[in-house]
Amino acid sequence: MKSDRELINSEGRRLDGRSPHDLRKIKIEAGVLHRADGSCSLEWGGNKVLVAVYGPREAVPRHVQNPLKAIVQARYNMAAFSVEDRKRPGPDRRSVEISKVISEALEKVVLIEQFPRASIDVNIEVLDAEAGTRCAGLTAAGVALVDAGIPLRDIPVACAAGKIGGRVVLDLGKEEDNYGDADLPIAISPRTGEVLLLQMDGHLTIDEFNEAFDLAMKGCYEVSEIQKKAILQKYQSAAAEVQE
Ligand code: ADP
Repeated sequence: MKSDRELINSEGRRLDGRSPHDLRKIKIEAGVLHRADGSCSLEWGGNKVLVAVYGPREAVPRHVQNPLKAIVQARYNMAAFSVEDRKRPGPDRRSVEISKVISEALEKVVLIEQFPRASIDVNIEVLDAEAGTRCAGLTAAGVALVDAGIPLRDIPVACAAGKIGGRVVLDLGKEEDNYGDADLPIAISPRTGEVLLLQMDGHLTIDEFNEAFDLAMKGCYEVSEIQKKAILQKYQSAAAEVQE
């Protein structure tokens, strides 16, 4: 275990030079795949995520259909080459859990009542993993759902805060996640502030929890602006192509 001093120094500088309230660098591009109904590629620090959305389409097998609303089926997958030691390919407990919590979060913002018996499939492929992949995947899924033209109440967005060296900080990197004290990923609907996902790893006091929660919320609003820019850019270049 690394000492706290190595994760954050007395001036509040982190290993990668960030201050406690800084996000890692984020780059989002909408509409990157031709065969998907909607897609998004997202880089968040050292994370690289590709999301493809299909639907609404008839849910199969039929017994999973809901006659009153659509189901949202997110499938989170980490590529074998996405981590330092090759990950065993295929689903594991962690990816099943992440797929479930992301599906439940997305169901809260999609207008599922409009599509009885349908399925909206959200494939999340993690190509490079460096901590925070569930937030990166959910954030990219929000953009890909918009790109697919699926009616939404809002564009869901996610970000984590955590604790390292006794301090609450935004958006943990790999070393911080491995050797830090706590990680608190959240997803929200930015328009209403509704919490769509909240998980916690490690230990926080109530005061630290409140501080980390507020910081993660602020992070979500920052990421939300980057999402909106990526969507605008996609539609501006599509409009320019039509004009030409
Ligand atoms: P998240 O990626 O959402 O933070 P975790 O906290 O479970 O989810 O994982 C933190 C990081 O640990 C991942 O982003 C990845 O870099 C690494 N990791 C997760 N699973 C594995 C694995 N099976 N092998 C190697 N590294 C992994």
